[in-house]
Amino acid sequence: HKSTVIITGASSGVGLYAAKALAKRGWHVIMACRNLEKTEAAAQTVGIPKDSYTIIHIDLGSLDSVRKFVQDFRATGRSLDALVCNAAIYMPLIKEPLFSPDGYELSVATNHLGHFLLCNLMLEDLKKASTSEPRLVILGTVTHNPNELGGKIPPRPDLGDLKGFEAGFKAPHTMIDGKKFEPVKAYKDSKVCNVLTMRELHRRHHESTGITFSSLYPGCVATTALFRNHYPLFQKLFPVFQKYITGGFVSEELAGERVADVVADPAYNQSGIYWSWGNRQKKDGKSFVQKVSNEASDDAKAEKMWDFSAKLVGLA
Ligand code: NDP
Repeated sequence: HKSTVIITGASSGVGLYAAKALAKRGWHVIMACRNLEKTEAAAQTVGIPKDSYTIIHIDLGSLDSVRKFVQDFRATGRSLDALVCNAAIYMPLIKEPLFSPDGYELSVATNHLGHFLLCNLMLEDLKKASTSEPRLVILGTVTHNPNELGGKIPPRPDLGDLKGFEAGFKAPHTMIDGKKFEPVKAYKDSKVCNVLTMRELHRRHHESTGITFSSLYPGCVATTALFRNHYPLFQKLFPVFQKYITGGFVSEELAGERVADVVADPAYNQSGIYWSWGNRQKKDGKSFVQKVSNEASDDAKAEKMWDFSAKLVGLA
């Protein structure tokens, strides 16, 4: 009997290589993606065996689509052993915000709100997992944390008093803190929400369900499509910079293995934890439990973020 994992955004980058690594470890992978043809081609290109994966459509920017995905997954009759929230968009160059079908700023809608709804709905499925160690893993990033080298570059994330969420997060409210639209900050804010969500899931549900909730920073994977919306010159120089100057560079293959470790390796069965391999890669570098940023460890903020998010996705 194979264990089943859902990975969002498995059509490229970290998610694709995590799918490959988990298939190799004997898991069945549900590739939850918005572009079915692209995902099929990607799975074949990296050589995931045909009987090791199923592709199911999801557009994380749309709350209806997230709900539809959950139905479609349940219709397969499979039990769920792990969920990996990996999909994300980063649009550093846009001047004006884009909006989701629900009317929310698109990067927070995709990276945070879609996953927030998905996690909450799929808790039911994880409670009925076929393994005794179900896990829910959310991708984090060093840029969520201004205390670290990779997180110091402005604009820094700051959810403030969540005035934008409180006001319903529809135009003209495009930032969580209620301030002026800034696309790089919107991405970082969404990743702070990812870490707060993981910690709040742990606080609310770990003891009663036995589900392990964790996050990880896989290292700087400078070659992925995440940077597709950046200046072409940045896309060329960023991997070189990370490889030879900061030493933070990690291949997509290695990042995928790290996600697979956090999903499947007995050594990572700790809940409420943020795993890191550091921001400067050493050969055979080991993982460690990383302290998250001040904002991401603020329990009062986590609770506030949870309550507003639940309202925005229609759970409250
Ligand atoms: P990629 O851009 O390569 O992959 C992102 C994935 O998300 C793609 O499969 C993309 O689909 C999918 N996606 C985007 N929008 C949606 C949507 N609305 N619905 C469904 N799927 C969607 O990025 P990475 O692999 O680099 O990033 C993956 C994760 O790793 C992110 O959470 C990121 O924050 C995190 N991370 C990345 C780092 C890096 O250096 N690259 C560092 C730290 C963390 P499509 O193929 O259709 O575009």
